Amino acid sequence: MSADFHDRLRAVVGASRVLTGAADLAPYCTDWRGRYTGKASCVVLPGTTDEVAAVVRICAEAGTPIVPQGGNTGLCGGATPIGGEVVINLRRMNRIRGIDADNNSITVEAGCTLHAVQEAATAADRLFPLSLAAEGSATIGGNLATNAGGVQVLRYGNARELTLGLEVVARPAQG
Ligand SMILES: Cc1cc2nc3c(=O)[nH]c(=O)nc-3n(C[C@H](O)[C@H](O)[C@H](O)COP(=O)(O)OP(=O)(O)OC[C@H]3O[C@@H](n4cnc5c(N)ncnc54)[C@H](O)[C@@H]3O)c2cc1C
Repeated sequence: MSADFHDRLRAVVGASRVLTGAADLAPYCTDWRGRYTGKASCVVLPGTTDEVAAVVRICAEAGTPIVPQGGNTGLCGGATPIGGEVVINLRRMNRIRGIDADNNSITVEAGCTLHAVQEAATAADRLFPLSLAAEGSATIGGNLATNAGGVQVLRYGNARELTLGLEVVARPAQG
């Protein structure tokens, strides 16, 4: 991948948020159980939805595949690059945007850990019922992408059943 491509990504998220060194990439290129290991062109750490959109646009223009990644606790290798993708890790997007106790709803960014969401709900005297052993590291984005169940799934349903709406960055169609 050309230096120019990485420079375009750096211009969006900042130089320190585009990782290219082998040691820096390693934790993002192996899954939680160490069963899958791949190679990434780089890891990008965006901090806002606009940054994610710009990164996705640059990757689409370059024809470079992307791998979204949250806490990298998934057990199926879905967050692991195979070879040459851009890993877009969302962990910097970890803000609780709002909580509406009257409406029993909470608005959070994709990189919030599940535990942080639970704590925010508890602070508002509410229960966010999704719970699983990886909740200190797993992110809401990953929970939704995997439609996580967890230990209370029979009572409250899967992650998608707890979801009212999504803000989505879509990869532009390639013509
Ligand atoms: C100890 C342990 C216990 C677990 N227990 C359970 C359990 O009880 N029930 C259960 O259902 N699962 C369980 N899991 C698996 C769990 O579903 C995942 O760990 C978690 O949901 C993934 O979140 P993550 O942020 O780590 O996602 P990652 O591992 O980073 O990614 C998982 C998938 O989601 C995609 N993804 C991540 N973030 C985004 C995003 N923002 N936008 C689009 N796609 C995204 C990735 O590309 C990948 O395909 C467990 C895992 C561990 C390690």
